[in-house]
Amino acid sequence: MSNDTAVTLSDPVLNGPYDPPTRYFDGRIDLVTQIETGEVSIVDFKSTDHAQPQTVTWDQLHVYALGYQELTGTGADVVEIRNLDETGTSERDAVRNARLSEVRHRILLAGEAVRQNRLPRHHDWVHACNTCDLVGLCRTRLSSSGAHND
Ligand code: SF4
Repeated sequence: MSNDTAVTLSDPVLNGPYDPPTRYFDGRIDLVTQIETGEVSIVDFKSTDHAQPQTVTWDQLHVYALGYQELTGTGADVVEIRNLDETGTSERDAVRNARLSEVRHRILLAGEAVRQNRLPRHHDWVHACNTCDLVGLCRTRLSSSGAHND
C-alpha cells in the first residue's frame, strides 16, 4: 500500500447546502507496518529537533489513522512515534474510535472554516505563533525586549 493518503470525508450535519458535500485531505504517512503483536501500526518518525509539540504529533497520527481507515476499510490498531535520535525510543498509543470520531469532527469543522473563509488569528500572541510559518503575514514578531506591536 502506498503511504500517500487522499481521503474524502462527508458529514450529513455539516454538509448542509454546500456543494460538493465532502471534505478532502491528503498527507503522507511515514510507515504502516505490522508490529510484533500482529497489530497494524501507523508510525511517524521524529528527529531530535522536535518541529512541533508532541500533542500535535499525536493528533497528526490520528488523522493518519482515520485516513488509513477510510482508505482500507480496516482500522489500524496503534499509532506510534519512533525517535531517530541515539536513544531510538518509541511511544505507542492505541487507536480508539472515540478519538477517531473527535479528529474526524475537527477535520470537518476546519474544512468548513476554510470554505467560509473564517480563519481569525489568535487575539494575542500564543505559543504556536513562535513557530508559525505565517507569522510574517499575520503579525509582528516578538521583539528582543519581549514586546509585541500587535
Ligand atoms: S502567527 Fe500563526 S499561530 Fe499566531 S495567530 Fe497568526 S496564524 Fe495563528
